[in-house]
Amino acid sequence: MKRNHVSAKPTAIRGAIFLLCLTFAVAGFAQDTATTLNHGVQVNNIDKSVQPGDDFFRYANGEWLKRTEIPPDRGGIGVFSALADTANKRTADLIEEDSKSNAPAGSNARKIADLYNSYMNEAAIEARGLAPIQPQLKKIAEIKDKRQLALALGGSLRADVDALNNTNFHTPNLFGMWVAPGFNDSEHYTGYLLQGGLQLPDREYYLSDSAHMKEVREKYVAHISAMLKLAGFSDTDARAAKILELEHSIAEKHISLAENDDIHKANNTWKQADFAKNAPGLDWAQYFRGAGLTNKGSFIVWQPTAFAGESALVASAPLETWKDWLAYHAIEFYAAVLPKAFADERFAFFGKTLQGTPQQRPRWQRGVQVVNNFLGDAVGEIYAQRYFSPKAKAEGQEMVANIIEAFRKRIDALTWMNPSTKAEAKAKLDTLYVGIGYPEKWRNYAGYEVKPDDLYGNVERASMFYYNYQMGRLGTAVDKKEWSMTPQTVNAVNLPLQNALNFPAAILMPPFFDPDAPAATNYGAIGSVIGHEISHTFDSEGAKFDSKGRLRNWWTPEDLKQFEESTGKLAAQYDTYKPFPDLSLNGKQTLAENIADVAGVAAAYDGYRASLKGQPAPVKDGFNGDEQFFIAYAQNWGSKTRDASLRQQVATDSHSPGEYRSATVRNIDAWYAAFDVKAGEKLYLAPQDRVRIW
Ligand SMILES: [Zn+2]
Repeated sequence: MKRNHVSAKPTAIRGAIFLLCLTFAVAGFAQDTATTLNHGVQVNNIDKSVQPGDDFFRYANGEWLKRTEIPPDRGGIGVFSALADTANKRTADLIEEDSKSNAPAGSNARKIADLYNSYMNEAAIEARGLAPIQPQLKKIAEIKDKRQLALALGGSLRADVDALNNTNFHTPNLFGMWVAPGFNDSEHYTGYLLQGGLQLPDREYYLSDSAHMKEVREKYVAHISAMLKLAGFSDTDARAAKILELEHSIAEKHISLAENDDIHKANNTWKQADFAKNAPGLDWAQYFRGAGLTNKGSFIVWQPTAFAGESALVASAPLETWKDWLAYHAIEFYAAVLPKAFADERFAFFGKTLQGTPQQRPRWQRGVQVVNNFLGDAVGEIYAQRYFSPKAKAEGQEMVANIIEAFRKRIDALTWMNPSTKAEAKAKLDTLYVGIGYPEKWRNYAGYEVKPDDLYGNVERASMFYYNYQMGRLGTAVDKKEWSMTPQTVNAVNLPLQNALNFPAAILMPPFFDPDAPAATNYGAIGSVIGHEISHTFDSEGAKFDSKGRLRNWWTPEDLKQFEESTGKLAAQYDTYKPFPDLSLNGKQTLAENIADVAGVAAAYDGYRASLKGQPAPVKDGFNGDEQFFIAYAQNWGSKTRDASLRQQVATDSHSPGEYRSATVRNIDAWYAAFDVKAGEKLYLAPQDRVRIW
């Protein structure tokens, strides 16, 4: 699953989720000033001293890698930085512009202005000190028994995870909620409950014996202590040790990211009454009361064993430890909007230690991110009007149509697939909704109150507004055309339960998509992204959802067996890649994305050949059409990542690092012909070893 095109870690709350994209946080890649955009492949990024068949990533991006430094406030940087910068600059400009306007009270424009200005007014934030968070800490301190604890744990539930669309399995709250079309009723919204409770990105951070992870844990416990001290707690070292111990116990109950992919294991409908029976320990009636869900009948529980384990821990671990855990998690959640010392301490651990990033982003950039988080559609509406032309929309639609057609032909040509499976695959293409640029409906922010100079309150209300919005949808009819990304996001997504794709305006820009570039580079760059998203419709998870978005295996057993054989080969291929001597990629964890990459390039290549209508492709910059196509593809993934950040990506991300995404061209026959790749070169695969899926 993990359907978004690239690495995406949404932040905790989503007005419309702010996606950090294309392998790292896009909000603030620095400009790659040495690159002036060429309408076509970026010739000055190519390192001709590298043999394409040995290392296609360094061939396509080597000169860029040599001259590019990762900016001190980033975990990494990519070739597409110019594109991300443009989108962010535009977003920042329109927020700045708006923040100076005197828009009418209650309007979206006024909300954007008040939210941004409340973030930028550091003097007011410092002057308030701890006052805004005190009521919440006091409430936690007053918890007297496990019954009241259950009520408070329920009160912390938010709609902050997403299993299949933007793929975020992480919440620091005890559990997380995702509201989406139901596995068993795709016409109505259903609540999915997911495991949670950890501040560190994944259970591996608690359980792994590696020297790196041990060091992370030592620094983490010191960080917990520092945060508690800032908030006025005493005896913070001892408290921190117990909090880490509790999170370690929670981590032991969690299932792994690779296991989260198994949808059939995730499809467990529990009525409210079942929770006490299936997962005893936590007072579930109080929990649901705290969450405001008492009258909601049932939920899908993604990881039943984790629910049983975590619930038992609520009963067995001491009340005082749970209270400290709750307080610490509340402080962490609001750290960015408390006085500077909190944000700095949080960054010192989560930015510096976990990601290796030396410097925090400038405050205004973080302010833009906050506005994008909570008022994403309000900003997006202005963004789309201003920056996405009807011409760009029409051209994007045409490319999508060509690549869908290429997929249709590929399905027809498959020799191993049964006619009944082919018919359903084509039905999925027929009912696929492809959103280009921006959504058809904008989210209504009438229920979100933004007050000038009340940053903490603005964040608290945003979090509740979004939660209430999602809870209000439970049981109501699904809007299949709803978007899950904002137009200003440089990313793309496949929504399996809606059988829909979103391509936001901000990714439909140079160098991904350039109306002045040859078709070869547009198909190689954005075309393979489009192909990648379409492929998710048919990959190991897409195979489980039919043309109506129902959870139904529409493949015959023989077809599935054949599919699993070829995809198993691909998983084994990725298992061999080692970004560090002590760390390999996990071919299973990244399988769906790797399938989508191979299939995406293959279909985009067909779409590109078809777009030539029998004419030869123009030679540009000394490269023929096929060379341009593959170089443009590999240049999508040109990137540099700090070691700590790369280790985190390998441990927690369903996407392979850019270098290995580029290398997937070794599975495509046309690449061998284009670059005259021969046996003996490092990426060479004998024809029978190339993985052909579609
Ligand atoms: Zn994907």
